[in-house]
Amino acid sequence: MPGFELFGKEERQQVEKVLDTGVLMRYGFDGMRDGHWKAKELEEALSQRMQVNHAHVVSSGTAALTIALASAGVGAGDEVIMPTFTFVASFESILALGAVPILVDVDDTLTLNPNAVENAITPKTKVVMPVHMCGSMADLDALQQICKKHGLLLLEDACQAIGGSYKGKPLGSIGNLGCFSFDYVKTVTCGEGGALITDNGEYYENAQKYSDHGHDHIGNDRGAESHPFLGYNFRISELNAAVGCAQIQRLDEFLGIQEKNYNMLREALSSVERVTFRRVPDGGVENYSFLNFFLPTEEMARRTHKALLDAGVDSCFYWYDNNWHYYRKWEHLTNQKTLGKLSQEVLHGLQDFNKVDFSVSDHWVGRNISCLIKLGWTENEVSERADTMVRILKSL
Ligand SMILES: *Cc1c(COP(=O)(O)O)cnc(C)c1O
Repeated sequence: MPGFELFGKEERQQVEKVLDTGVLMRYGFDGMRDGHWKAKELEEALSQRMQVNHAHVVSSGTAALTIALASAGVGAGDEVIMPTFTFVASFESILALGAVPILVDVDDTLTLNPNAVENAITPKTKVVMPVHMCGSMADLDALQQICKKHGLLLLEDACQAIGGSYKGKPLGSIGNLGCFSFDYVKTVTCGEGGALITDNGEYYENAQKYSDHGHDHIGNDRGAESHPFLGYNFRISELNAAVGCAQIQRLDEFLGIQEKNYNMLREALSSVERVTFRRVPDGGVENYSFLNFFLPTEEMARRTHKALLDAGVDSCFYWYDNNWHYYRKWEHLTNQKTLGKLSQEVLHGLQDFNKVDFSVSDHWVGRNISCLIKLGWTENEVSERADTMVRILKSL
């Protein structure tokens, strides 16, 4: 997955252009910048590649999620449905706005289960936020139907699945809003960065103002701009955006490498009885950033994961025990450990985590192993890795 593996000449050239002028900020300084607008350039490349009207690039994927929610008017006490298996950024972005994260089970797609989503809807629900974890997507048709039926927004977190598609459309472009991360370990990196995409002109206008203190971005005198509503600072710097300009041009090259490596590993593992693969919804194409498979029991999955590590097969994850990606270890959320007080809306709105039953999620995530697909592997390395994995899986 990580674009940093293939970091080089193109990235350096883009950054040099910014350094030549010294204009490190994405707004203003028109006279000094010698025509370089890297954040804007990246936005144009993204909106083209993702086939949407608007893209807005910001400081991180977490910021993009926060801004996406804010741009659609999500605020205090609104409920946002999110999966039990995701990165902590999901609930961070929701809580940042005083909204309430509602955790819901995942299924064999390792993403939101549409039935569980429908059961979690209340009069306070405003958004359904599927997270396309580890390169593959939620059942977006089913989720879209639920959202239409109940008048909810669909916000796709495609931070780990950039370049994947569903029924011919890029992931992120299908919901009302979609988000990407360009942090250092993502398929396309800016060092730090993120983006939201949408076809909705109003959300876009809100997003670009909100992420820059509410600046209306009219005219070319920043100091004279008005502030139609309260905002914040989630700007990306031109240096980071410049790296992204080079990386986004290489997205399809990266996907091609990932697909080839993924297919070699998958083909090898298919020969192992009792290994099954994650379900990809009909019409979905993964971005091949991870290969995900299930063992028959939790105990076998844990044992396999350990044996893989012991044999030097790195970059395989057992998310069930992971501190950051599964609800079981989110005690800072479930015990409400915060520096300051949470609002009453959030305190009252959070689920009772002593009572909620996520055994369906446990059933799937507890038996799953996720192998990161690297860009820098040689064909020999992939085939050796495949042999080792098959040997270990068969011996257990
Ligand atoms: C990385 C990631 C984010 C957050 O992105 P940052 O740029 O690190 O803030 C959000 N959601 C998912 C699923 C991610 O993997």
